[in-house]
Amino acid sequence: MIKINNYINGEFQPAKHFLEDLNPATGEVIAKIPKSGLNEVEKAVNAADEARTLWSNIGLEERADWLHKIADALEARSDEIASLESLDTGKPIALARAVDASRSVANFRFFAQFAKEFTVEDFEMDDAMNHVILKPVGIAGLITPWNLPLYLLSWKIAPAIVMGNTVVAKPSELTPLTANLLSEVIDEIGLPAGVVNIVHGFGSEAGQFIVENSKVNLISFTGGTTTGKMVAATAAPMFKKLSLELGGKNATIVLEDTDLDKSIPEIVRSGFMNQGQVCLCGSRILVSDKIWEEFVDKFVNHVKSMKVGDPSSSNSDLGALISSSHRDKVESYIHLAQREGGEILCGGKSPNLSPPFDRGFFLEPTVISGLSHMSRTATEEIFGPVVTIHPFKSDKEAIEMANCTDYGLAGSVWTGDAKRGKELAEQIETGMVWVNTWLHRDLRVPFGGIKNSGVGREGGRWSLSFFSEAVNICVKNKQ
Ligand code: NAP
Repeated sequence: MIKINNYINGEFQPAKHFLEDLNPATGEVIAKIPKSGLNEVEKAVNAADEARTLWSNIGLEERADWLHKIADALEARSDEIASLESLDTGKPIALARAVDASRSVANFRFFAQFAKEFTVEDFEMDDAMNHVILKPVGIAGLITPWNLPLYLLSWKIAPAIVMGNTVVAKPSELTPLTANLLSEVIDEIGLPAGVVNIVHGFGSEAGQFIVENSKVNLISFTGGTTTGKMVAATAAPMFKKLSLELGGKNATIVLEDTDLDKSIPEIVRSGFMNQGQVCLCGSRILVSDKIWEEFVDKFVNHVKSMKVGDPSSSNSDLGALISSSHRDKVESYIHLAQREGGEILCGGKSPNLSPPFDRGFFLEPTVISGLSHMSRTATEEIFGPVVTIHPFKSDKEAIEMANCTDYGLAGSVWTGDAKRGKELAEQIETGMVWVNTWLHRDLRVPFGGIKNSGVGREGGRWSLSFFSEAVNICVKNKQ
């Protein structure tokens, strides 16, 4: 049993009350974590406040060096990060190694380098010069979900601190283990006390107290759209800087000229990576009617061949869902799909696994056809291993179907003609579109959604701008 404490002002501090953290693959309790309340959040905010002046004054070069030190220390513990992330989230270990462990290190390295190269324009006038400088915003409140725990936490902490802010972060209480490892790393390397404070607990308590705190100047939130609305309702009237990275219901458009043998493995990956619990997952697959039968046959066969089971085994393609209640929610959508006239082509139930995994929150990868593209199953975010497939007759119809949800996060187009793919991509109403690839990330590009998928952008200069205040100083040439 792991016992986790909050990390506040450079010290590990216990809370009065604790919560249990479960292994989703077995249902066993693996850790006890603080159930932080107002007192713990206030301590963390005060620590962040005290550290502000020192941290903003040390300069960007030195702060970037600290990011490199964090990256080095995380890299030395990469295997441990992957094991903890797999244990805590139920995701396959191979995925935790390839994505979570490596991206967490890469996030710190990237922002350390990129911030040093990032320059802000000066604007010359006939009689004056405008100098734009970037100042820290102050205290950044960072709130992150359970699907990519350290990956998303480091994606916020790195740009926040490199730009001179101090941080109070609340990871999801369902996946606290790697945030705790990050606290250990920060402690080990001796980052000045109070620069990064990590408070564990429920979102409705610790998370809400962070958002409500008047000393917290900025909120960067990644999570569901409903929670995002609550966060915005609290933060907006307080005029906090706010970034919301929310849910998605992303379309995958498969044109008739696609090389199916090459693209199907990637389309399957985009539908089911991390048990479909990635905001970018392509959960609505729109297929040209000219290749419908061939696509469905090949796609379903591929999905059926995937192994669900022990996340620590390198043979598992899919692990467990995050919790029993989340699996219930995903299953309720499978039942809804049946009521809406859908046909389950594969999956649709929990697999028969041997102990201890028979007590885990597993679900077979599920493919559903026969639904209207306007049905609830095809338009609401399920966030599980469930995809719906729909035929279309023309490119125009494909775009109409792709744009018919309230979400606007991401999408992908699959075609033998990259130019046609790009033209279609331009008509999709989302913040990101991939052509003949998926989740192919360059950390310099903007990341974020439109419509109900969020407000603002992260990544590269967009993160650095968000985590800073641009101040213009206009100097007249002569008095
Ligand atoms: P969630 O329930 O919205 O929770 C996200 C975080 O917010 C958690 O740490 C949560 O704590 C906290 N929280 C809950 N209520 C809060 C409140 N009133 N004030 C402040 N914080 C609060 O989302 P989730 O179920 O963890 O994650 C899945 C969702 O995240 C999906 O919709 C997915 O699409 C989205 N997501 C989006 C992106 C993106 O970049 N756009 C990336 C990843 C995930 P608790 O855990 O204690 O509730």
